Amino acid sequence: QRTDVLELLEDTADRFYVQMKQKQIECTIDLQPGVGSVWIDRDQIDQVLDNLVSNALKYTIEGGSITLGAYSAVDEDMLAIRIQDTGIGIPKQDLHRIFERFYRVDKARSRNMGGTGLGLSIAQEIVLAHNGTIELDSELDQGTTVTVWLPLHEEGSVDA
Ligand code: ATP
Ligand code: MG
Repeated sequence: QRTDVLELLEDTADRFYVQMKQKQIECTIDLQPGVGSVWIDRDQIDQVLDNLVSNALKYTIEGGSITLGAYSAVDEDMLAIRIQDTGIGIPKQDLHRIFERFYRVDKARSRNMGGTGLGLSIAQEIVLAHNGTIELDSELDQGTTVTVWLPLHEEGSVDA
């Protein structure tokens, strides 16, 4: 369904409000002017955003920050949603395996954090089913940025 992008990001931030507050993590929404709505399965994209923001929260220490951003590529008819954190990052040698099911970086660092290693693979599955792509960039001890690219318009629609 047609979904307002600002509302999509604000609702996501709201679902994590208490956890963010507990960890003193600041969450900023950064929307490019002119970005309006996107055609998505709202429940499924909520699931994607929940998985990505829960990672950003889990792997960012107290006092850090998370930015939820969105912008569109003018000529490509795609919307980019970006989840950026100032967290622990992911070592270069693990980056290529991060979307595998059950893959978790360094058991020692994630042992106490809970989770099964499914969040990213589920997110990727949903995004691919939307004809989108998902990219992850990370710098160890600096932070991680995940970018989800989604088609702005309904497949084959006249107003596309
Ligand atoms: P689950 O999502 O099933 O609760 P999980 O968070 O460990 O468990 P994924 O979301 O698939 O699993 O992430 C896989 C691994 O990638 C994580 O264990 C973590 O090591 C690393 N990772 C994912 N997102 C981030 C991030 N934002 N910052 C640092 N490391 C991350
Ligand atoms: Mg996760």
